[in-house]
Order: sequence, then C-alpha cells, then structure tokens
Amino acid sequence: MRERGFYNEGDLVSVLTAEPLDRFLDYKAPEGGVFAGAFVMAPLGPRRVLGVVWGAGAGDFDISKVRAIGRVLDVPPMRTEMVEFLTKAAEYTLTPLSLMLRLATRAPGLAQPPNMRKILRKGLVEPTKLTAARARVLQVLEDHGGAGFAPSELSAMAGVSSSVIKGLIEQGAVIQEVAPRDLSYPKLDADSAGKTLSSDQAAAALKLREAVRSRMYGTTLLKGVTGSGKTEVYLEAVAEALKSGRQALVLLPEIALTVEFLDRVEKRFGQRPAEWHSGASQAERRRCWKAVAEGGAQLVVGARSSLFLPFRDLGLIVVDEEHDGSYKQEEGVLYHARDMAVLRASLCSATVILASATPSLESWANAEAGKYARIDLLERFGTAELPDMDSIDMRSEAMEVNRWLSPTLVGEMKVRLEAGEQSLLFLNRRGFAPLTLCRACGEQIGCSDCDARMVEHRFLKRLVCHQCGASKPIPDTCPSCNVEGKLAAIGPGVERLAEEATDLFPDARVAILSSDLAETARALKQRIDEIAAGGADIIIGTQIVAKGHNFPHLTLVGVIDADLGLQGGDLRAAEKSFQLIRQVAGRAGRAQKPGTALLQTHQPEHPVIKAILSGDEEGFWKAEAESRQRASAPPYGRMAGIVVSGEKEAQVFDLARYLARNSQAINQIDAQLFGPAAAPVSKIRGRYRVRLLVKVPKGAPMQKAIKAWLAGIKLPPNMRISVDIDPQSFF
Ligand code: ADP
Ligand code: ZN
Repeated sequence: MRERGFYNEGDLVSVLTAEPLDRFLDYKAPEGGVFAGAFVMAPLGPRRVLGVVWGAGAGDFDISKVRAIGRVLDVPPMRTEMVEFLTKAAEYTLTPLSLMLRLATRAPGLAQPPNMRKILRKGLVEPTKLTAARARVLQVLEDHGGAGFAPSELSAMAGVSSSVIKGLIEQGAVIQEVAPRDLSYPKLDADSAGKTLSSDQAAAALKLREAVRSRMYGTTLLKGVTGSGKTEVYLEAVAEALKSGRQALVLLPEIALTVEFLDRVEKRFGQRPAEWHSGASQAERRRCWKAVAEGGAQLVVGARSSLFLPFRDLGLIVVDEEHDGSYKQEEGVLYHARDMAVLRASLCSATVILASATPSLESWANAEAGKYARIDLLERFGTAELPDMDSIDMRSEAMEVNRWLSPTLVGEMKVRLEAGEQSLLFLNRRGFAPLTLCRACGEQIGCSDCDARMVEHRFLKRLVCHQCGASKPIPDTCPSCNVEGKLAAIGPGVERLAEEATDLFPDARVAILSSDLAETARALKQRIDEIAAGGADIIIGTQIVAKGHNFPHLTLVGVIDADLGLQGGDLRAAEKSFQLIRQVAGRAGRAQKPGTALLQTHQPEHPVIKAILSGDEEGFWKAEAESRQRASAPPYGRMAGIVVSGEKEAQVFDLARYLARNSQAINQIDAQLFGPAAAPVSKIRGRYRVRLLVKVPKGAPMQKAIKAWLAGIKLPPNMRISVDIDPQSFF
C-alpha cells in the first residue's frame, strides 16, 4: 500500500481484488469517499467483486473507462500490519497478492449488512419418522453446536431439499427464529485460575507470561515430552494475552484435536472460544471473521488458515505440535503455517510459542542459533512415566506368510489383554492392502488418472486412489489379462492388521482409528473418547493416533513397521520417522500404569532406530543437523521445488528443459539446479508432472532470483508452473 489516506469521491484509487488477475485495478472513489484499507465491492465486467482499496490509483488506464467503486462494506478496514503481512507472505511464497487476499477473505457473506436474519436451531422434539435425509439435517445441526444456519445453508450442508427442512420445522424438530446475523462471542474469564502448576511448569509459564506482557515480538520453542503439561503452560500465556486485552490464536494440526481443545478452553476460561477450520459452517466462519476484526473474539482456535484472519490486536500465536507436516499447505498457496506465524507475529509485536515433544529440525536449529528462546519441560506430569522402549528384530522372528504381528509382540498383547489393559498397533497405512496384484499377469492395479497404485479398502469394498480420491469396485477379474480369481492383496494396511488381530484374539474388542473412517471431526473425537475410556482392547491406528490424544488405559504400543519411513530419498525421512515413532510411543503409560513401546524392524542397528530407543534426542538432532550442514540442505541451505505440469507429457518436459537451459538468473546466486525429472508422483488427475529442484546457499536472495528466472515465460494454455519455497515433501 503506497500511502494510507482518505480519497474523496471521484479520486482515483487502486484496488486489489481477490480475482486471479496479477495486477491492481483503478477505480473512482465512491460517494462519501473511502479510506485506504476499506473492503469494497467493485464492478468487474458484469460482476461485482470483493476488493480492498490499496492506495492512490496508478492512472495508467483510460480515465474515461474507469468505473466507480460500488459500495464500501460495513467491516473494519484492513489494518496496515495485515497489508504488510500479505505483501511479505506473497513475496516469500512467490504467490500473486490476489491469492493472498483470497486467503484473507475466506468468509462468505462478508458483503451482507449485519441485520436480522432467520436462523434454524435444533428443537427439543424428535421427528416422528427419522428418514436418512432428516437424520442428516439433525446431524449437521448437532455437529455445529445445534444452531446458527440460514435455511438455504442448512439444506446445502445436509444435501437435502428445502421441503425436508420444512417438514422438520412443522414437527418442531427444527426451530426457526430471528437472530442478529452475527452473534458475538461470550467473554472469556482471563482471571479464572488454572491447575496448580509444578515448579517446572510454573517457571515456564512465568517466562511465557512475561514474553506476552512485553508486547514485543519473540518466539519460544516449548519442548516437553507428551504429557508434560505443555498445553497447561501455554494456556497461561493465553490468559496473559486476554488479560492485557490482546487477542490470542492457537493453531492445531488436526480438526479432531480442536474439539478436545475447545472443551479444555471452556473448562479453563468458562466459555468456548471462536473456532476457524474447514469443518465450521459458513455462518460460523463469517461470524468469526467479523468478530476477530472487531475485537469481539478474544481467542481463536483453528487450522493454519486462521493466520489470515483480520485480528485487531493479536498478542500471541501458539503453534501446537509445531513439527506436524499438516502445517504445510500443499495445494493452492504453498505456505508453511509455522513460518507464517513467525512472520505475522513479528509484524504485530506478538509472542509465538512453538510447542512440541519432537520439534522440527528447523525450530531446533533456530533455538540453537539463539533466534528462538527454548524452554524444556523434562518430566511427565504426576506419576506418569515414559514408556520402556525396545526393538523386535524381525529377521529372527518366525513369521507366517501374510502375517505382520511377530510372536514376541503377540505375546506382549496377550499379557495386556489378560490384565485388562489396552494395546495400540501403529501402522501408517490406511485401508486393507496397499497393492492389488494379478498373480496371472503381474499387473498392479493403478489409478487411471494418477501415477499411483489403488489401495484396497475392504470396509468400503472399493479400491481407492490416495492421490486423487478416485475409487472403483474391487474387481473379480484382472483389468489387464481378464483372468478371474487371481487378484491378490499384497502388504498390510490397518484394516488387514485388524483382521489378523481378530484372528489371534477372537474375544478382544478391536478398533481401527483412521481418518477415512469417520465422517466429521466430532464423530472422530467421539470414537477416540469411547476408545480412550476403555471401549476397545486393541487399537489399530494410522498417524492420527500420534497426535496428542490421551489413552489412559494404554500400556503397550507396537510399531508394526518401524522401517517404513527410513527408506526413500526424502530429505526429512529420518526426522519424520523419529518424530512420528516417538510421538506414537509416547501414547503408552500416560496415566498411572507404566508403558512399553516395541518397534518391529529389520534394521535394529539403524541410527534412527537406535536414537529412538536410547531416548538421546539431542544426540539425534545434533547428528541430523551435522549431516544436513554437510549437504548444505535445509535449514543450512535453501531449496525450492519447481513443478511444471500439463496434459501432454512431451510438452511438459520441453518446457522444463527450456527452464533448465535458461537459468542465468538463478546461476547468479550460485544456485544448483537438479532435474528436470519426472516427479515422484509423475501424474496426478491426468496431469503430467516434471520437477526441477533449486538449491541455494543460505542468505542468497532466492525468491528474487526465481522470480526473475520465471518472469519471461509465456505459458501455453493448460500448462502450469508451481513454485514451492522450502518444500517439505517431494511428491
Ligand atoms: P502436553 O500438552 O505436554 O501433552 P498436557 O498439558 O495435555 O500435556 O497435560 C497432560 C495431562 O496432565 C492433562 O490431562 C493435563 O490436564 C494434566 N496436567 C498437566 N499439568 C497439570 C497440573 N499442573 N495439574 C493437574 N493436571 C495437570
Ligand atoms: Zn488418482
């Protein structure tokens, strides 16, 4: 924004729209004038689009054709710090500013005036006949705390016609009422006392409270084993922010955790905070966006995109489970929420807390370098102890064909069953079997649109592509050679493991926890709660079990394939494997009973396995840091992934090779260029993907050079170049 001023009616102003145009548009200020930062509706062709007044107009457009802004919206104008944040985030991620604005305005109906409107609530009466459609309507209301939809919103979300809703209203199962369009949030009680902290916890809380009180930017890595009370401690910092009248944001990596966390906030501060994630209704999102802008939402709990909410006075950002891979957005605008949280906080003098039991190497290195403060919580709270850990050497276990539970692990599970305790089997593979092979012709059934094998999901009775989500019925005959009855499921997924566990222990209650088996966050949370309360003897889970849930009866964790993450050329393979297995192992023995974690592995002497077992975390990070340093790999060097994609393979390769040949702009900053090569997933949704990898020394102006490199390229229709700064995964 060039300058922040007021523009009189008819003055030329420059407007940034959320449309995919890579430039600003000139308009005339409307009647009554307009301030820079104002959200407006502006005419564009036959439409009216949302935009923000960015500054004085450039005047480089035929003045007779310049139109006037239609309307100024009744929401607080964009603050200067938000303008800076979007600008810097756009520069960092090499994303058009219009796309950043779109992230910052993802609240439908912002343009509507805050008047009264009809909303629907859940009634006290059950419907006389509970059809599937009616049940869906009630479920949607239930999932959103019982209230708050416009009739059209509700019918869209439940996928039912308006007559279904009308019927429910007539019966009193759904109640219609008139309410202010956007309800305000109840006030949180910042002074209500939390739990009595241990002396370590109290010392940590004191430091964090001081950081918040200072009203200066600073980032602290809060490292503590699972169950050490990190959440308890950072809630103290939240209380401090609320007390000083500033807003707080807590980012969580997974929606199911949000539900649990909201309950915890309610216990601590007396009321529920605002929430922001994909599971929230449109009405809830608009309400949250506006209340955040007006200051009426003191605390927001949300997914990564809540960083782009228009906070009025943000004083604290907590990134919980900061190492979690889901903080990196891998589609659309490619950004890492942890890095953006630090950027955002530095622009508004806020405190950042990065909490984790197993920090990312990036954050660990930043703490080592003194850029971040670091606080360690060394002990689990109360009597809970860390589990004993050991490996099971699969080379010396007598394994039957198509069996994945070793006799040693089965023996331990038996002991737990007899004692009435829970066992958890961890395998990071959804579905029944990762591969369906024809024993007649060798065909491996793949997705027709992607370079990926189809995964058998026996519950769904379908083969599913985990890349694009496409699915088809499990065939009886091979699609390639047409021979019948020769298709075989190869390898285990969680569903297959459940079958094996049931075979071995027919009387045990076996439960699967996998993200694809629950429809909503609330349903998933409910399942987790039932299981945690003792509703299962054997839990079989994907990585979802690694994320912060408590299982007090759990005393045994079996990692089915500890080698799974060790292979592959991924730069972060060792780090991710270390984090994931330690997180999972940390699920055992959280209450009074001590726990054991056993890793099935073919390479018990692998350094990562040894580091996990010995518990020498600092040793692991030091070794990992050294090897990255030697390779000038992140965080000691920088990388960017460039993916060229399109529908014609030859064309895609041609463009990638052209880029490689004409790379003077990045050569000037001593970049190394790798590729072009087919991307590890070389086709997604019918588009071919070719990859280039740029590696530059730390401190070099990477983004500027890449921008210059790609600037002259005229893309043929249907081809795309996407740039991933600091790539996390290499697919
Ligand atoms: P983390 O976030 O490090 O995994 P939590 O904050 O969730 O740890 O704490 C683990 C469990 O111990 C929670 O049930 C929490 O309520 C409990 N707890 C932690 N600290 C205290 C304390 N000082 N007093 C009482 N309970 C505590
Ligand atoms: Zn696919």
